[in-house]
Amino acid sequence: MSAKIIDGKAVSAEVRERVAAEVTEFIAGGGHQPVLATVLVGDDPASHVYVANKHKACEAAGIGSVHHELPAETSQADLVALVKALGDDDGIDGILVQLPPPDHIDADAVIAAINPAKDVDGLTATNAGLLAGGRPGLVPCTPAGVIELLDHAGTEIEGAEAVIVGRSNLVGRPLISLLLGRNATVTAAHSRTRDLEGVCRRADILVAAVGVPGLLGAEHVKPGATVIDVGINRTDDGLKGDVDFEAAVEVAGAITPVPGGVGPMTIAMLMANTLIAAKARAR
Ligand code: NAD
Repeated sequence: MSAKIIDGKAVSAEVRERVAAEVTEFIAGGGHQPVLATVLVGDDPASHVYVANKHKACEAAGIGSVHHELPAETSQADLVALVKALGDDDGIDGILVQLPPPDHIDADAVIAAINPAKDVDGLTATNAGLLAGGRPGLVPCTPAGVIELLDHAGTEIEGAEAVIVGRSNLVGRPLISLLLGRNATVTAAHSRTRDLEGVCRRADILVAAVGVPGLLGAEHVKPGATVIDVGINRTDDGLKGDVDFEAAVEVAGAITPVPGGVGPMTIAMLMANTLIAAKARAR
């Protein structure tokens, strides 16, 4: 039997419409228009496309946006100074520094300069610590999008065996906390896991966030499981996930495609986070 396909584009559109309605309601109730500031260093074409898409999404959601574009040779000190100034600027609710920066800049130093109250990517130590401690804060967009997709698919998280393959700060680690917070039994698998297939086959919820095309096949999937594929890998055959979709779709109960699964959720959750930050600052 073929799995239900989880349509990330449709869920993303729903979230963005919900955020747009909430922005209107917030402003009608006397709130200010939320504003996102983006910062891009250098001329990487893909990064330019990502940032342009974020601005389009802001406009559609009724969120204001400002963009700072800096030349590739910008010093780390100048970038940190700009990020700190945005943190102090009362007219800015969210700060997004498009990563990765050029090689001469330490991304961790830039992230550390972001005002945690405006850290809409959820990357600062403050927000990571709040999430790990099960306390409210700004949650990284991609893992937040994974939870949104699971809820939309009707997958029960409480009590489920959840296996996350990958333990990056951007995706795997925050997901551990988010799924634990929803009372799943969580296993984090990674490159040193001994029996990856055996571990994955226990999962009612299997999340792949690795960056290796087709790493997980039908043999990794428990029949009926929900499979969420975070991987985005450019191959000669186009964009591929970390899951061998054609094989896994025959075993899973529900599965995200690549593209069109987790990918579109990240921008939607960025809009949601910008509104959360604006409301928190207004209080
Ligand atoms: P990363 O490189 O920071 O981390 C990869 C993780 O996978 C590591 O923890 C490593 O231990 C684990 N790993 C590597 N090889 C493995 C193996 N053979 N078996 C088991 N585990 C292994 O990657 P990341 O930033 O978390 O990104 C992962 C993937 O998700 C990438 O394809 C990336 O493009 C994609 N991604 C998508 C979005 C989105 O949809 N918007 C956002 C972020 C990342």
